[in-house]
Amino acid sequence: MHAAHASETGMRPSACPGLLRIVAARDGGICRIKLPGGALRADQANAIADASDEYASGVIELTNRANLQLRGVRAGHEAALIGALLSAGLGPTGDAAADDVRNLMISPTAGRDPLALFDTTTLAADILSLLQSEPHFAALSPKFAMMLDGGERLAMVEHPHDVWFCAMPAVQGAKHVRFAFGFAGCPPIDGAPSDSAALAAIAPDQVVPTVAALLRTFLELATPDQSRMRDLLTTYDAEIILTHAQRNLGFPLQRDASVTAWRRPAADPSLRFGMHAQMHAHTSYVGAQASLGRIDTATLRELAAISHACAGGMLHVTPWQGIVLPDVDTAIAPDVLARVAALGLACSADDPFARVIACAGSTGCAKSLADTKADAQRLATCLPDGVADIHLTGCLRSCAAAHRAAWTLLAQAPGIYDLYRRDDTQPGPGACVAHHLTIEQAADALARLARSPIDA
Ligand code: SF4
Repeated sequence: MHAAHASETGMRPSACPGLLRIVAARDGGICRIKLPGGALRADQANAIADASDEYASGVIELTNRANLQLRGVRAGHEAALIGALLSAGLGPTGDAAADDVRNLMISPTAGRDPLALFDTTTLAADILSLLQSEPHFAALSPKFAMMLDGGERLAMVEHPHDVWFCAMPAVQGAKHVRFAFGFAGCPPIDGAPSDSAALAAIAPDQVVPTVAALLRTFLELATPDQSRMRDLLTTYDAEIILTHAQRNLGFPLQRDASVTAWRRPAADPSLRFGMHAQMHAHTSYVGAQASLGRIDTATLRELAAISHACAGGMLHVTPWQGIVLPDVDTAIAPDVLARVAALGLACSADDPFARVIACAGSTGCAKSLADTKADAQRLATCLPDGVADIHLTGCLRSCAAAHRAAWTLLAQAPGIYDLYRRDDTQPGPGACVAHHLTIEQAADALARLARSPIDA
């Protein structure tokens, strides 16, 4: 689920005058900018800031798919905005439809984590190139999404994907890691309950052809109303889909107990904050989270300036609605972190704005029953210590969270919410533990429930 999509308004995407998609919302158009692997050059960040000031409201959202979107695009300025973004190299390489299919999640520290199993950056570029070069892949739903995981410690592995690939250690005697893959969900995680298991494994150089075979298989088997892999699995079981895909592959899929028993080591999302060493000596990355997923153009320009001066001119948007500045000289990383903190971004897991997310709410979305952004701002001022992963949502679409949050406040009326605790045995946000709470009552309930987790 993207941080904003057509469901914010119930309206379909507007006619697109260029190669990027703009959807209507209560506060104006929303222009999505898909970033390859979350990566953004500093000059592109400046171009986005300029375009947002000139043609939109200046509000920039970082999405939970590690993309950006500009809010408040002014009517009549759509083509000029898209032209400015395309001039900065922000758009698909193919035709208009190719933008929709560029949905590939990788770690924001891909290629830089010294403990990762595999550098996925080249493979990710090859997959994005494949998605944009084969015209029939444009028939995939804009929501059809894949994950490529190199085993980094900082990785979003809780977002369900239509197809996921995860690096797994090489078997004894083998030279290279393998990639396990599975459908319609998340990889099985060490120490966490899971009903999923990897279906098969392949060598790294077999990933791209396997992606191609699986996508062709999906498009061949799916009916017009089956847009996601989970839909196809209601008609065909995974075995049939694999058998079909295997016909298009010149190598066997590896399927044995070592694959089905494999579990990914747990990721460490706290590594999105602060400074951390990279694999190359004397370099670190600096990470932070944008308050409620939004920044203004001045902040984006300053991040670009820091990146230009200290981070090799690159920024990486993270699926936690934050940024990573890579390749910083470790000696100056504390100064870089201080500059980022001075911009108001959350730089530690204790920061209230590291613990609360919210959807666009009623100022931006006609479906919302409350101003979730303003209410989240209020909640952050009275949030009890030790309570984290709180999601305020204006409706059950859950645009701000692709994962199931520990705590969900579901709007019932302006300023009034029902509180849910995550319960993986139940659908949706989990178990409802309190009704019709004001924000202050919600803060009290969270403090009480966090102290006594089984006492509702
Ligand atoms: S109310 Fe929030 S969650 Fe619901 S569609 Fe709108 S932005 Fe998305």
